[in-house]
Formats: sequence, C-alpha cells, structure tokens
Amino acid sequence: MIVVLLGAPGSGKGTQGVPLGDHLHLAHVASGDMFREHLKAGSKLGQLAQSYMNRGLLVPDDVTIRMVLERMSRPDAQGGVILDGFPRTLAQAEALDEALAQQGEGVDVAPYVVVSTEELLRRLSGRWVCRAAGHSWHTVSNPPKQPGVCDFDGSELYQREDDSPEVAGKRLQVYFEQTAPVVDYYRGRGVLAEIDGEQSIDGVFKALVDAIHSRQEPPAAA
Ligand code: AMP
Repeated sequence: MIVVLLGAPGSGKGTQGVPLGDHLHLAHVASGDMFREHLKAGSKLGQLAQSYMNRGLLVPDDVTIRMVLERMSRPDAQGGVILDGFPRTLAQAEALDEALAQQGEGVDVAPYVVVSTEELLRRLSGRWVCRAAGHSWHTVSNPPKQPGVCDFDGSELYQREDDSPEVAGKRLQVYFEQTAPVVDYYRGRGVLAEIDGEQSIDGVFKALVDAIHSRQEPPAAA
C-alpha cells in the first residue's frame, strides 16, 4: 500500500501523519522530518537542506528523491508507506512512479487535505512541535494540556524557524507554484481523494482512514 499524503504547509498533514501510520501499520516517511534529522546530526545533507529550508525553498529534487527512495527500500517500509511531504514537485512524482513501476507497484491513493489559504497562514503562525516525535500543537485550535509540553510524550515544544510569518508566506507561495501541480497529477491518475481539512482533527483522521481503506484491495478469497 503506497499512500501519498498531500496538503499545503499547515494543512494538518503533520498532525495526522504519525497516528495514521500507526493506525494503518504503514511506515510514516516524512521528507521534512528526515531533513531535520540530518540537520540535527550535522550531516552534509542536513547542512545543504538547511540553506533551502531557512528560506522556505524546496531542497533540490535529485538529493530529495535519492533520500526518500533509499528510505522506502528499508525493511520496515516493505509492508507499505505513507509518504508525507513527498513528492512536492512533478519531477519527484514522476521519479516515484518510475521507481514503484520497477517493482510492479504504484501509488494507491493520494488523500489531499484541503484548507483555505487564510486558515493555513493562521495555523502556521501558532504552530508548536514536540522535539521527541514531531507531534504538532496549536496555541488556539489544538493547545497541549500544559503549555510548552507535548501531551503524548512529555517532550519540550518548540516553534520551527520556518514557521515565522515571512518564511511561512514563502513556503505557501512555493507550495502553490510547485506542489499544486502534483495534486493535478494524481487527480489525472484517478487516485486523488479530497479531504475537508477544516473539520475537527478527529474528523480529518477518520476521513483519511476511510479514503485509504476504500482503495485497499480486498483480501484474496480463500
Ligand atoms: P515540511 O516539514 O514537510 O514542511 O518540510 C520542511 C522543509 O523541508 C520544506 O519547506 C523544504 O525546504 C524541505 N522539504 C521537505 N520535503 C521536501 C521535498 N519533497 N522536496 C523538497 N524540499 C522538501
């Protein structure tokens, strides 16, 4: 099962991706998280990625594609994956299709979490993320029980540098220019499933699970 989770920065993908992977027993592969891990580890790739992330720009396709395909080849991803934040360009979408086709596979479903631009900007400016696992919180719409502490794992919450108003605005612009065509790409392939991203967090989760289950192949008859 290959799921491509689509949605603009701030659409709630980050909130849904981890629990969705756990619930469906699929590996959660988030390219942004991978870049942040590289950055934390001080790797060359992390330093390269940072120079783009800080400006709200996309990391070049070749390094991004190589990193994600390598991640997808690891044992824990063989039962299926939820791709979160990848592909973000048409070139990435095509590279993914090519790699999957070589294994006789393809993207099964691309749920697209739809949220208005005004709401996206509001959400990005109040977002706090936990250090341990990247769980997302929001000062107004989804506050943690104790300010600054993640309800799930007790780790410290921080604001991402690229959630500053200037960089967040740039990220949205980049999204509309470079990633919106990816939505049309999957629509053209008949795998897009539009999800209302302005309902409750639980409502979005349920809609995502339903959309994914509805595309899952029924088990073969015994
Ligand atoms: P995210 O956590 O998904 O919002 O990603 C944070 C940042 O990482 C983005 O603004 C980009 O700079 C970079 N990034 C993440 N995924 C990709 C991708 N598929 N292609 C290029 N850059 C990416």
